Amino acid sequence: MAKRLKVLYVSSEVEPFAKTGGLADVAGSLPVALEKLGVDVRVVMPHYKNIKVNGNRGFLGKNVIVYFVNHPEYFHRDYLYGTPEGDYPDNLERFAYFSKEIFNIAKENNFSPDIIHCNDWQTALVPVYLKTIFNEDPFFKNTKTILTIHNLAYQGIFPKEHFPLLGLDWSLFNIDGLEFYGKVNIMKGGIVFSDFITTVSPTYSKEIQTKEFGYGLEGLLTKRKENLWGILNGIDYEVWNPLKDPVIPFKYSFNTLQNKYVNKEYLQLETGLEINKDKPLLGIITRLADQKGLDILAPIIETLCKMDLQFILLGTGDKVYHELFEKIKVKYPRKTSINLKFDAELARKIYASADIFLMPSRFEPCGLGQMISLKYGTIPVVRKTGGLADTVIDYEPRSDTGNGFTFTAYESLSLLEAIKRALSVYRDKKSWMRLIKRAMEADFSWKVSAEKYLRLYYQVLATSDSLLHL
Ligand code: ADP
Repeated sequence: MAKRLKVLYVSSEVEPFAKTGGLADVAGSLPVALEKLGVDVRVVMPHYKNIKVNGNRGFLGKNVIVYFVNHPEYFHRDYLYGTPEGDYPDNLERFAYFSKEIFNIAKENNFSPDIIHCNDWQTALVPVYLKTIFNEDPFFKNTKTILTIHNLAYQGIFPKEHFPLLGLDWSLFNIDGLEFYGKVNIMKGGIVFSDFITTVSPTYSKEIQTKEFGYGLEGLLTKRKENLWGILNGIDYEVWNPLKDPVIPFKYSFNTLQNKYVNKEYLQLETGLEINKDKPLLGIITRLADQKGLDILAPIIETLCKMDLQFILLGTGDKVYHELFEKIKVKYPRKTSINLKFDAELARKIYASADIFLMPSRFEPCGLGQMISLKYGTIPVVRKTGGLADTVIDYEPRSDTGNGFTFTAYESLSLLEAIKRALSVYRDKKSWMRLIKRAMEADFSWKVSAEKYLRLYYQVLATSDSLLHL
């Protein structure tokens, strides 16, 4: 029998154990999809306070073992990375410790990995440690590393004075190592030392090589562009599927789309909106942050509210947006439903009931919302950036193609124009139905993404060190 590929997948958050964002969804799904392709994949994550397991391990799916790094002083806290007041001041120590422990866990379990797959800055020290502290260790002689960047806006930057806590030689604190404008940059270390880098969509992998999206690392990323790929995240259609969704009152597929409109009436009733299945319902589910395009939505929100439509928002985040939407709620009570909270059930009802889903992001490494909304036949209106550009194809009336509406300029008027285009097609029921059909047929399942990762693993293993570090 051929030897099974051994992959150690390391992440600071993994759904269903701990989650603050999209990284957890990926780390909870990709290893399972890889295991189904025959990979011997194990996962390592910190043992946070809320995680209840017997001993120091758990499972993803039936077969993927998850090892927990246990250090109560570092990880038994109320939050993963910081309180609402700010990041924990010892995050460098916490994740340096976690990254080193990964090597010990591999040894304790006699799991000599072909690949260690790291994610974001919290595990970006692993490639650094492999090539320094563990360089001579025969247990990791054939191990290669991959670093996936889920969001370059978070790099793990710390004062120079913290550098000794990493346990690395000062010679690494230079421009070709972890130094970044006089500070320590952990993500930079990962980019320099990993054998290969990926991002979570092809377009984002190009964008981060530019000044606008590179946050100071664009030069380094361009230097490593031969070893940089974008692989789109998938979504789990067992979890996100209007035919199986346990939360929505009426399950549906394209063939029973009338149920979508019954769900819509239920939601209108539940949220105090006027009950009318024909009124276009615009939905947005998001962190209320500038990244998500709230700053271009804000100036046109009143214009939208005066139009013949309904608007439902679910989100939490920046105080300014809480205040803005509170005012909108008071001014347009029957036309808007403003929900300033995190609510997984309401999110599903919105995906199932809205007609149009807004994602006007300034940047979007991959984005899940648009993929979910497509599956639920809710037409996305998105800015053409990152993963949004790779998944949403602009509607083209002449050829009757596309699955949503895109706009390019990061401006309120461009967003408004795209919404108006969507509304005009909405009024033409036949075209709208064909658009919904194409949206629901799109396939962004994990299987497709996992196959690409597998191909990458083999490519990295087949390439000699000298070629990888040209
Ligand atoms: P990001 O990870 O940058 O926040 P994504 O689009 O990749 O953005 O993923 C966000 C996910 O979180 C989506 O599945 C979205 O439905 C969900 N979500 C965001 N805000 C809320 C909220 N307030 N309540 C429920 N779900 C939310």
